[in-house]
Amino acid sequence: MNKKELEKIKEKALKEHIPIIMDDTLEVIEKYMKEVKPKRILEIGTAVGYSAMCFSEFLDIDGKIDTIERDEERATEAKENFKKVEVEEKINLYVGDAVEILPTLNEKYDMVFIDAAKGKYPFFLKEALRMINNNGVIFADNILYKGYVLSDYNKHKQRTAVRNLREYLKEVSENPNLETEILEVGDGLAVSKVK
Ligand code: SAH
Ligand code: MG
Repeated sequence: MNKKELEKIKEKALKEHIPIIMDDTLEVIEKYMKEVKPKRILEIGTAVGYSAMCFSEFLDIDGKIDTIERDEERATEAKENFKKVEVEEKINLYVGDAVEILPTLNEKYDMVFIDAAKGKYPFFLKEALRMINNNGVIFADNILYKGYVLSDYNKHKQRTAVRNLREYLKEVSENPNLETEILEVGDGLAVSKVK
């Protein structure tokens, strides 16, 4: 893996205000990956591929990442980035809306990273639960959404997003097959381990 290129891509993404994974969030996930060595990862929301490229370093041997991005420009850039960083063999990109693509997948994953449209988190969870292996983990980024989710914040154009993030938290907390922790890293990270 070409770490120098990866660093350049990170800087460019930050400059362009692309919401890439924050350093402390990444640290939590990488620590988990070092312990567990997942073989199959599903990521929902690629952007320019930064998080997927970071994860690819900690995959098990022959491991692979599937990642989904609906913005064609970003997807094209992600593909170029995978080549620059020399990880294109480890990452498979689906271009399209995850709401349409997820139901067509019939794979089993050891780890799912949800990081796309916040209003769709409950749907993404349903699809993640259908495909996650026993002892797998589902991470959901931006789950506290600038603190709105756990406050009494209610009126704003982001209301639907907040409502759906709350719904996500309710579902993972009430699911007897999951053990969930909410971490205050980055914009909030939900970590749900499958029992
Ligand atoms: N995981 C990336 C950041 C993703 S930002 C990283 O940390 O580097 C969120 C991305 O999700 C955006 O690029 C957006 O275009 C994409 N997205 C939002 N809703 C989506 C959907 N329904 N299907 C596929 N991609 C979606
Ligand atoms: Mg995010």
